[in-house]
Amino acid sequence: MALIELDEVSKVYGFGDATTLALDEVALSVGKGEFVAVMGPSGSGKSTLMNVIGLLDKPTHGNYKLGGQPAAQLKPNEQAKLRRDKIGFVFQFYNLLPNLSVLENVSLPLAYKGMTPVRRAKRASDILELVGMRDREYFFPTQLSGGQAQRAAIARALVNKPSILIADEPTGNLDSHDSKVVMEVLAEIHRQGNTILMVTHNPELTRFANRVIYMYDGMIVGDERTAIGQMARGARRTYFNRRRRTDEEIAAGVSALLKDVPGKEVTAKAKRRKSTGRKRGLRAKATRGRR
Ligand code: ADP
Repeated sequence: MALIELDEVSKVYGFGDATTLALDEVALSVGKGEFVAVMGPSGSGKSTLMNVIGLLDKPTHGNYKLGGQPAAQLKPNEQAKLRRDKIGFVFQFYNLLPNLSVLENVSLPLAYKGMTPVRRAKRASDILELVGMRDREYFFPTQLSGGQAQRAAIARALVNKPSILIADEPTGNLDSHDSKVVMEVLAEIHRQGNTILMVTHNPELTRFANRVIYMYDGMIVGDERTAIGQMARGARRTYFNRRRRTDEEIAAGVSALLKDVPGKEVTAKAKRRKSTGRKRGLRAKATRGRR
């Protein structure tokens, strides 16, 4: 049985003339333990798809089953409970609470479960060990690097032992070193049997996934199985087919830009202003000297 099952799911935003079809009859089935990378241009519906799967948003039409259970038409409080128990979110910006320590941030989702504070801290600490952040338990978010903050956010997303981890551009705000560290954490979580859906614009990151879906205009236009460690073929195509500009084209672009910049007048004016300014200054000095 599929963990995630979408059947002709559509999402329409707005009314009348101003409607946007963000998802257009999407059918998708994701099994337990898959690591799915979601790619596509901006506005193609990736975040909307994640929000529907993550029960942050309801589809306008269609059916969605999570773990075999109809999830789209549940009442808001039932949906919130399902979301809390089954889904962990990681966003581009870590959304850690600044006044709480890393340990308190990570154990926060357990507060709603009626666990004792000691058990909460123990669980949070174990998850921080998993993401290599146990030695930062008592740090505050402002004392962390981007990679460390994102690892803490991943720990917080995992503390409830969700069935699915949804990561919307988790390395979008990180440099290449921190991205690598965060991706290695996600890879380890995947190896332990977790299901991960990750939106990314970076073709390199498809190496961590075993499936890549490509979106365009609210539709899934490609669905590729891929070996871990290899860049997906579709991602590679868009990555390497981007035509490199020749030196002549770059030079032409630069001279076109220069044409628009009123460089000479500005320089001449600035020079004039500078020299009159200097003259004025000298004159003032001379007057002061005379006094
Ligand atoms: P992506 O994540 O691929 O950039 P989105 O899912 O954010 O794409 O958006 C898909 C389309 O739906 C876009 O045209 C976007 O403008 C529109 N959209 C997304 N969210 C809303 C919203 N809350 N209200 C109105 N339009 C929205």
